[in-house]
Amino acid sequence: MAVKNSDMYYAYSNNEGIKEKGEYGGVVTTIMKHLLESNVVDGIVAVKEGFDLYDAVPCLITDPEEVIKTAGSIHCGTVNLASFIYKYLDGCRDMKIAVTCKPCDAMSIRELMKKGKIIEDNVIMIGVNCGGTLPPVPTMQMIRDVYELDPSDVIKEEIAKGKLIMETAEGEKGFGIEDLEEDGMGRRENCQRCDLKIPSNADLALGNWGVIGPLAGKATFVEVFSDKGADILNDVIEADLIAVEEPLEKGIAIRDKINNFMLSASAKKKEADYAGTSGDIIEVFKEYEDEFSKCMKCYGCREACPLCFCDDCCLEAEGPEWVPGGYTPAAPFFHLTRMVHMVDSCTNCGQCTEVCPCEIPVAKVWSTVNNKIRDVYGYLPGFDNGEPIPFTEHKPKDNWK
Ligand code: FAD
Ligand code: SF4
Repeated sequence: MAVKNSDMYYAYSNNEGIKEKGEYGGVVTTIMKHLLESNVVDGIVAVKEGFDLYDAVPCLITDPEEVIKTAGSIHCGTVNLASFIYKYLDGCRDMKIAVTCKPCDAMSIRELMKKGKIIEDNVIMIGVNCGGTLPPVPTMQMIRDVYELDPSDVIKEEIAKGKLIMETAEGEKGFGIEDLEEDGMGRRENCQRCDLKIPSNADLALGNWGVIGPLAGKATFVEVFSDKGADILNDVIEADLIAVEEPLEKGIAIRDKINNFMLSASAKKKEADYAGTSGDIIEVFKEYEDEFSKCMKCYGCREACPLCFCDDCCLEAEGPEWVPGGYTPAAPFFHLTRMVHMVDSCTNCGQCTEVCPCEIPVAKVWSTVNNKIRDVYGYLPGFDNGEPIPFTEHKPKDNWK
């Protein structure tokens, strides 16, 4: 059987240890281990559990025996692996890697590839579907207050059938995700807006949606999105490292249905978030003036942003010609500079909001403006088609207000 681009399978690992530790059959982990063992890559980039399941640690692994440490899904893992690859692995200039990526990781990696900051030929993208991640500290608080559980007793969390379920040794407890999110809990706000749930911009996309029948909970659904992905899957099947079955028609339909449901929920959230910001960028800033006036110029958003990489833009906003010693830059100035430079590439990954000590909804503002730009220029960040808009050559259409 030769695997082709756009093929779909149910799959699970033939390695009992990995199957046991993996989230849904351990296919991602098996692929990663194989790529390392067969020297296709020099390292794999994935996420492992640190202190507890609220502590997701991005890691580079070069020893195949260590790969099993990365098995399993960490839903409080809000890290962005594009930053890790760009900042700590020099954009894979001198090494080949395979990386597990949520859709927002994949989008940010693709943007950085287009900008020459990550070398595309040196990176294999093993995508995982993502319904959303939970912010670790507020989630622990929610588990105490709403679930009336000790966060350290929780062994697994998942979103299923509209509920956010916490599993302990005593059993399960679940609350409606919509109700939780209306009360400011649940998934991160950017995840609630996220409009890519199956990472079709990766080489493969794996997830549990659509796995029904006897394999439900024991296997993962794999969809192939590139020739590179097809070759890799073919290799692990031929080496008898994973078992595959044709997916059930009903399962494919269910997967589509869940994906579409999630996407329409995101569209509603975006509509609500963007309400009241019908004007141009300045209008958006005016809308959030009170929020941005709280900015203490720690520049954490810039540091955390996977797409903020130039040395000579925002740093200028801190220079003596703009900011005399002893002063901080005027509130919106730094943010406006940063926005002009990279908002077209914003992937709504939420890292900026996550780190902001002043709790400014930075990602919400950036996402609002990014979506305006999408409407005007038709540029969709995070996919390999289309060049990013060079900020020096913006040519707005006539209808740009
Ligand atoms: P495994 O062999 O267990 O490998 C899992 C891989 O994911 C490992 O490489 C691990 O390092 C990596 N990983 C774990 N946590 C993170 C993280 N936070 N960020 C990036 N990489 C991580 N599938 C769906 O169909 N619907 C969903 O709603 C859905 N939500 C998900 C949310 C998150 C945060 C994650 C990480 C995955 C989600 N998945 C979802 C995918 C699913 O949980 C499995 O990862 C997938 O089915 C592959 O299973 P596996 O047993 O082959 O993976
Ligand atoms: Fe998942 Fe999207 Fe949230 Fe990223 S932004 S963690 S892909 S839901």
